Amino acid sequence: MVKKVKVEKAKSDKSSCKKCQKKISFDELRAGVDCWMGGRTVTAWLHMKCMSECFKFDRCKGKGKCKLSGDTMEKGEARLELAREYTGIFFKLKHSHSALADFLKEKAMKPQAIKGYSELSPEEKSQLWKTAKAHFRRA
Ligand SMILES: [Zn+2]
Repeated sequence: MVKKVKVEKAKSDKSSCKKCQKKISFDELRAGVDCWMGGRTVTAWLHMKCMSECFKFDRCKGKGKCKLSGDTMEKGEARLELAREYTGIFFKLKHSHSALADFLKEKAMKPQAIKGYSELSPEEKSQLWKTAKAHFRRA
């Protein structure tokens, strides 16, 4: 199953954020990822801001699989984790932009702003998305 960050306006006020436990208001933008919980697929929803605080670069503790591409990841390989505490989801660096595309459209974010960035090698950093500063202007 392909997993990536979904972004949508909340269809009700019944969901609550996995991180801060507070309610997500009706019509408020929310970010979600599908995860396997108790034998079925559920979407874990977080506030946009809370989700952005959950991104983290880390290294695989053992063999794993990129949740977007299904590619195998080796122990020690750098990955982008996505609210791992709540979702158990991570991606290969080169797929991190596709995984976050919908999210970044609503909330532009530089890889440099993500925890763990400084521990990546220059080669690893080069696999991440580029932010076009010159074109980034608010209307
Ligand atoms: Zn929250």
